[in-house]
Amino acid sequence: MRLIIMGPPGAGKGTQAKFVADHFKIPAISTGDIFRANVTKGTELGVKAKEYMDAGDYVPDEVTNLMVRDRIDEPDAESGFLLDGYPRTLAQVEELDGMITFTGHKLDAVLVLTVDQDEIVERLLQRSEVEGRADDTEDVIRKRQELYVEQTEPLIEVYRARGILIELDGMGEVDEVTQRIFDALDVWPQS
Ligand code: AMP
Repeated sequence: MRLIIMGPPGAGKGTQAKFVADHFKIPAISTGDIFRANVTKGTELGVKAKEYMDAGDYVPDEVTNLMVRDRIDEPDAESGFLLDGYPRTLAQVEELDGMITFTGHKLDAVLVLTVDQDEIVERLLQRSEVEGRADDTEDVIRKRQELYVEQTEPLIEVYRARGILIELDGMGEVDEVTQRIFDALDVWPQS
């Protein structure tokens, strides 16, 4: 099972990704988490990524693509994976297509969580108190939302045209959203 979960910042992708990945016994691969771990460890990748992340910008495609390629080459991702936060640009879509077809597989479904913009800002500001993320200030949140609309939302039409898009209401309690996802995936033709 090869899945993507998409949605604007704060849509609850990370939380839902874990449930879905556990269910299918595949790794949830969050590019944001990998970047943050590298920032914490002070690796070369972390140093490169930090300035972009703190500003709410996207880390350049070359850096991100290489990181994802390495990660999905690992043995635990051989039988499938759930990508959270990747791809975010059309160039990343192409790159991912190449990575997947190279291994003789295909992308099964792309989940998109739709949420109310105002609620998102509220959620992210709450999260910044809990997690202390440097990119959860109000200005940076706005910047990330704008970037999502400009650069990432266009991906939805690409995947819709391929017939693998599953759009879901991401509002409400966490377990309600999880249920919606499982209901949608159960009726989805799985490979
Ligand atoms: P996230 O945790 O998914 O919100 O990601 C946090 C930050 O990591 C983003 O605001 C970007 O700076 C960076 N990032 C994560 N995934 C990507 C990606 N696919 N392309 C570029 N930058 C990314």
